Amino acid sequence: MTKVADFDPQQLVLPLSHFIGGRYLVADEANITVLRPSDGLPLGTIGEAGEEVVDLAVRNAWQAWRESGWGQRSPRERARAMFAWADLIAKDMELARLEAVSSTRPISQVLASDLPFTAEAIRFFAELADKQGGEVAATRLDTIGMIASEPYGVVGAITPWNFPLSMASWKCGPALAAGNAIVVKPSEMTPFSTLRMAELAVLAGIPEGVFNVVNGTGGVTGAALVRHPIISKISFTGSTKTGAQIMTAAAQSGIKPVTLELGGKSPQLVFENVPDLAHAARCVASGFTANAGQACVSGTRLIVHRRLVEPLIDSIIGEVQKLRPGLTWSAASSYSPIISRAQAMGISDRVEQSVSQGAEVLFGGDFFAETGNGFFYRPTIVSSVSAQMPVVREELFGPVLTVQTFEDEEEGLALADHPTYGLAAGVHTSDIGQALRATRRIAAGTIWVNRYGRSGDMIMPTGGFRSSGIGKDLGRKAMEANLQYKSVLIDFDQR
Ligand code: NAD
Repeated sequence: MTKVADFDPQQLVLPLSHFIGGRYLVADEANITVLRPSDGLPLGTIGEAGEEVVDLAVRNAWQAWRESGWGQRSPRERARAMFAWADLIAKDMELARLEAVSSTRPISQVLASDLPFTAEAIRFFAELADKQGGEVAATRLDTIGMIASEPYGVVGAITPWNFPLSMASWKCGPALAAGNAIVVKPSEMTPFSTLRMAELAVLAGIPEGVFNVVNGTGGVTGAALVRHPIISKISFTGSTKTGAQIMTAAAQSGIKPVTLELGGKSPQLVFENVPDLAHAARCVASGFTANAGQACVSGTRLIVHRRLVEPLIDSIIGEVQKLRPGLTWSAASSYSPIISRAQAMGISDRVEQSVSQGAEVLFGGDFFAETGNGFFYRPTIVSSVSAQMPVVREELFGPVLTVQTFEDEEEGLALADHPTYGLAAGVHTSDIGQALRATRRIAAGTIWVNRYGRSGDMIMPTGGFRSSGIGKDLGRKAMEANLQYKSVLIDFDQR
């Protein structure tokens, strides 16, 4: 791993504003100011891609897709270019710094996890390039029925501001490995690292125009991308509200398939026979404080057996006190800022609303004063909550853990179920039967037993039940979603 050191954000050269047809396109007017979440100061500006620029990007992608032969060439050739790209990503300090400065990711975590994880996702899909074919169907013996897979052509991807590089790799990895060209729209709050990623793709030998980036707000650039007639599939990660708008727009502009990775409100369930309480405390603590709770799978609802609640909360508080908030470009920082003032105030307001409805703050509930103008919300633990309170009902996308207790398994499982979301869940128990009953019973796309959080196993798909989404990122399922299947039936014996 690269040695982590402080860096000076003033020294960074920001890429501008879009990446189309293998080169940067600097916008005539830079009308969006991007702030640094660590200190709230302006980082730089980008221009917004309107319909014309989005059209240029999509047409470039379409032309590159047909003329470069990206979709037609041997899958192993595509894989080689993607491997070279992953190798560049894994060691690119400029990419790491761009990610750290405009997103909420401290540089130490970008280098230890975001960069290697991004590179590994691309490698995983490159490996699948020639392993995801079609099938030969069981038809009459004088016919051959083939179910052949084909890329769509040009697909669109829209990504959120949390983990910008990883989220982009989950979209472009399967899209490119399957032979599509892609146009990505990153969040307007974190536009820069995805641009650098596109530049590295060209350096690695991915044909110019196969990977394009357009920047701007969701309502203008994102909406234009979804509606574009050449875009034949949309992959989106973001909030449930935006996901619904995108699904509607995709239906109205050509019945385009959508993959939607949306919000969550995931439980961490600790049974009385937990194998190791200290380990469970570490899982719960990291599960709701990683990236300051700005992770879709953040485990923000602790559901714990009544007899364990006090020692568990004490241990969780001990764990979260070890976190070090600080500038994302300082090597010593280990705790993330909230992305924006509006987002930070939304978290704090909903905690206060819940308190006014009877909730009790056991720890935190305020901002770290010593971090100046950054938006650092202290890890917060709230008890005496009910299902109707905002802290339990809504995705806060912040470091707020609610505590609910139960007496028996049935009560615990009932509390774990959320009426709206079903993204992930954690279960701590030493009884395998109980663990399996919980995995069957909880409606969630991912269930972790005696752990909380992803591993490096990219083969495990991720995605939501209920309003947490449609379809999967990662795994073979993500690859399949980037292919369309054609039935070909041939009569070969006409004697
Ligand atoms: P968001 O929905 O506000 O924005 C996501 C992206 O959509 C941004 O690029 C934005 O510009 C764009 N967008 C907004 N309106 C649009 C429109 N009408 N048409 C097209 N594009 C539009 O989400 P966010 O605040 O950036 O991200 C946080 C959310 O993402 C949380 O809800 C989180 O749970 C979710 N998320 C889910 C996963 C998952 O895998 N399920 C992973 C990460 C984040």
